[in-house]
Amino acid sequence: MENVRVRIAPSPTGDPHIGTAYMALFNIIFARRHNGTFILRIEDTDQKRSLPEYEENIFKALNWLGLHWEEGPDVGGPYGPYRQSERYDIYKEHAMLLLKRGKAYKCFATAEELEEMREVSKAMGKVSGYDRRYRNLSEEEIKAFEAEGRPYVIRLKVPLTGNCEFEDKVKGKIVTPWADVDDQVLLKSDGFPTYHLANVVDDHLMKITHVIRGDEWISSTPKHLYLYEAFGWQPPEFLHMPLLLGLDGKKLSKRRNHTSIEYYRASGYLPEAICNFLTLMGYSMPNEKEFYSREEIAKDFDVNRIGKSGAIFDEKKLSWLNQQYIINAIEPKDLWKRIKDWGFQDELMEKLAFLCQTRMRTFGDFMELCSFFFVNDLPLSTELLCQKGLLPEQAAAALQCLIWSLDEKVDWSSASFEASAKEICELFGLNFKKQMIPLLFGTIMGKLQGPPLFDCFEILGKPRARARILRAMECLGGVSNKKYQKLEKAWHARDLKSFFDQNASS
Ligand code: GLU
Repeated sequence: MENVRVRIAPSPTGDPHIGTAYMALFNIIFARRHNGTFILRIEDTDQKRSLPEYEENIFKALNWLGLHWEEGPDVGGPYGPYRQSERYDIYKEHAMLLLKRGKAYKCFATAEELEEMREVSKAMGKVSGYDRRYRNLSEEEIKAFEAEGRPYVIRLKVPLTGNCEFEDKVKGKIVTPWADVDDQVLLKSDGFPTYHLANVVDDHLMKITHVIRGDEWISSTPKHLYLYEAFGWQPPEFLHMPLLLGLDGKKLSKRRNHTSIEYYRASGYLPEAICNFLTLMGYSMPNEKEFYSREEIAKDFDVNRIGKSGAIFDEKKLSWLNQQYIINAIEPKDLWKRIKDWGFQDELMEKLAFLCQTRMRTFGDFMELCSFFFVNDLPLSTELLCQKGLLPEQAAAALQCLIWSLDEKVDWSSASFEASAKEICELFGLNFKKQMIPLLFGTIMGKLQGPPLFDCFEILGKPRARARILRAMECLGGVSNKKYQKLEKAWHARDLKSFFDQNASS
């Protein structure tokens, strides 16, 4: 194969996800196999949710895993810019081109109209929601709407009949009736592109030859293929990789699983073990080998050996593999350096020491005070977490709300934690000192006393603190699926007292 060019296109909207590493890895392996180029493109068209910090964290997380790119926003390259927010004019131009060619149209539907259409199609059990009512307006009608100043979006005019057929290099032939495909919005009323338009335009302009991405995008592929056709471009090959699933067989989600790359780094996993583990998720080596280097898999990489269905992400297996790496892949003389680089840097130790200063009788107390920081599994129990009559169910719900509250904040500081904890206390009618503080001490440190709680939260960092909250919730019996939805509603309405009244009576 000549001039193979592949890419990952993450959106910087949260902590870098283990799935991003998984995709990067397979793209790199494919690129190495064919002497190709691996590109990192940042898809930050969701202006509300995209943040520069998250982008920076993607770079850091992938670099830590040794997953390096040849072209990208930070290193540049011949087809830049590689950040979509710097390419808005390009998308607009392309949307206009489709309008001119009659492959797209202006849609003036109001929010109320769209809501109504959604209701109707739901009632009829239809897959697509939009009823195409603005697809065939006359020039005059369009002009009249525009003269009224009515906002519009630009939609793709997908075929009304027949099937979209394509050969996925992993899944085989995929057939989708066009009737099941919506007239996708390409350009929003504010002039910003949707994922679909920006993604296709960029893949074409960046000369991507193979799109290797997660299974969840397979249903978008017909729209993408139609866009290629409408532009008159040759589409790339598509390889949809099996999804990462939790032990419950459902797609990995941050609600139930550890999805943050930073969580794994901070918990002391080795980057080489994580990469090896992630390749096992989507691929089987010919000799059923499980312990191998990236070079080994890249050498004879064969797309026919990629799995077709979801792969179970089993953390126990990852721990086992990690141990194999600690035993077999680290020279004894390098071991302490690796441990030190992981968790004992001066900057961190200085912060921890400072927090312990007024709590040590001798330096002999230091390790005990901050051991919580270096261990993965804290000793938890309902008795520890629920003090002064706090009910396990209430505690679990309060912790879930703490997660939501923290997710709403970009600022990850001790002050913002404290504010969240206080707000939740008030909303739940809990006693801050007697119930909330012990609950959080238990959750974060596995004990009822220690260095200043909220500072410890801050130093621990979001992914690890989040993981500890999830673990404490699990210990408390969790929040059932049914209650989760009710709780979420109550949280958004900030009406939690009645949530418990209702529950008590139900
Ligand atoms: N921006 C998409 C994501 O966040 C990219 C999907 C694709 O690879 O086309 O995963």
